[in-house]
Amino acid sequence: MKKNLETLCIHGGWKAKKGEPQQLPIYQSTTFKYETSEQMARLFDLEDEGYFYTRLANPTNDAVAKKICALEGGVGAMLTSSGQAANFYAVFNICQAGDHFITSNSIYGGTYNLFGVTMKKLGIECTFIDQDWTDEQIEACFKENTKCFFGETISNPGGNVFDIERFANIAHKHGVPLIIDNTFATPVNCRPFEWGCDIVTHSTTKYMDGHATQVGGCVVDSGNFDWDKYAEKFPGLTTPDESYHGLTYTKAFGKLAYMTKLVAQLMRDLGSIPAPQNSFLLNLGLETLALRMRQHCENAQKVAEWLEKNPKVSWVNYCGLPTNKYHALAQKYLPNGSCGVIAFGLDGSREEAIKFMDNLDFISIVTHVADTRTCVLHPASHTHRQLSDEQLREAGIAPDLIRLSVGIENAEDIIADLEQAMAKM
Ligand SMILES: *Cc1c(COP(=O)(O)O)cnc(C)c1O
Repeated sequence: MKKNLETLCIHGGWKAKKGEPQQLPIYQSTTFKYETSEQMARLFDLEDEGYFYTRLANPTNDAVAKKICALEGGVGAMLTSSGQAANFYAVFNICQAGDHFITSNSIYGGTYNLFGVTMKKLGIECTFIDQDWTDEQIEACFKENTKCFFGETISNPGGNVFDIERFANIAHKHGVPLIIDNTFATPVNCRPFEWGCDIVTHSTTKYMDGHATQVGGCVVDSGNFDWDKYAEKFPGLTTPDESYHGLTYTKAFGKLAYMTKLVAQLMRDLGSIPAPQNSFLLNLGLETLALRMRQHCENAQKVAEWLEKNPKVSWVNYCGLPTNKYHALAQKYLPNGSCGVIAFGLDGSREEAIKFMDNLDFISIVTHVADTRTCVLHPASHTHRQLSDEQLREAGIAPDLIRLSVGIENAEDIIADLEQAMAKM
C-alpha cells in the first residue's frame, strides 16, 4: 500500500513479524552467527543476503536507512557515522584522484573544507560556483574530468535556496549526477528526487534526530542516473572491481549499482558506520519528524516576521519572508515551509551580538542547529572567531550575523526571550 510521509515516518523500515518487538530492536552486536562455512562463503560472494559484520550491515542500521530511503523516494540508502562522512562517501564513490567536481559555494563550512582542502589532498579538485551565476558562467566550469555537481537544498548558515531543477538540467546536460545535501529541508519539506536530483545526503544529526542525541549521516540514491550511458566517466561503477571478485556494479546490480559500491567498497574500506544504539535514537526522532518540522516552520515564520518589524534588527534572512531574495524559489521547492533556521543582524558590530546572546534566558548558545530547543550561534565569535571583520565579509558572513535555530517551544515564549534580551542591550 502506498503510504504518505507522516505514515512512513512511523511505519517505514522496521516491520515486526509475529511475536517480534513492536519497537525497532537495537542489534548491538558486531557479528552474526551461521551454521555452516558454506553459508558464510555465499554471503562474502554477494550470492546470498544476510548479516555477518556490522561494518557492512546491521539490522538496526538497515531498518533506519530503509525508512529514510522511503521518505526520500529512493531505491537504496546507507547510514554513516556523521553527515561529513555521508558527503565524503557520496562524492568519493564516483570521484578518484585526477577527477574534478563542481559545488555551490553556499554550503556548510565543514563540507566547504572537506571539498576545498581535504579532498584536494586526495587529488580530487573542486570548483566553487555562485548560485546566482548565469547558466553560461556555470557551464563554463565543467571539464572533461568533471564527475558531479553538489549543492544544499537550503544552505547552512546562509539560508540560500538551491534551484534544484535548473542545476539538475545543467548537470545532466554534462553527463553527471546532481548530489544534494537535504539536511535543512528534510524530505518532509522537499524531496529533491522529484526535481531531477540523483543522490541525496543528510546530516541526520539535525532535524531527523531532532533531539541532539546522536551525530549521524545518510546517503540515498534515486537509482535514476544512467551510469552505463557515460560508462567512460564512471569506471568504478562500469568496469570490474578487482577488490570484489572482478564484479561490475552496473551489470550485477542495475539501479542499485551506486549504493552497492558505496557499501561493499567504501564502507568496507573506510568504515564510518554508526553504532546501532545511535540508529535507534535516530529512528525515534524520525517517528515525529513530520510533526516537528511543521512546528519548527510555523514558529520560525512568526519569529522571522517579528524580527523583521523590530527596529533593533537591521536585517533578517529567512526564505519564508515575502521580502526575501529566495522567497520565489522557496514557494516552488518548499511550499509547506522551509526549516527553523533564521539568520539576522543587529547593528553591525560583534559586541552588540555578544551582549544580546548573553542576555538570553532559555534560548541557549550552542554549536548546533535544528533540534527541539531554540538556540543561537554567532559565527564571528564562535566558529569563525579567528577571522577579522573584513575576512568575515569576504566569506559572506556579516560580523553581526546571528544564526537562530527556532525550536518547537511556544512561539510567544521564544519571542519574549528575544525581546527581553534586546531590551537589555
Ligand atoms: C551539520 C551539517 C553537516 C555535517 O554533518 P555532521 O553530522 O555534523 O557531520 C553537513 N551538511 C549540513 C547542511 C549540515 O548542517
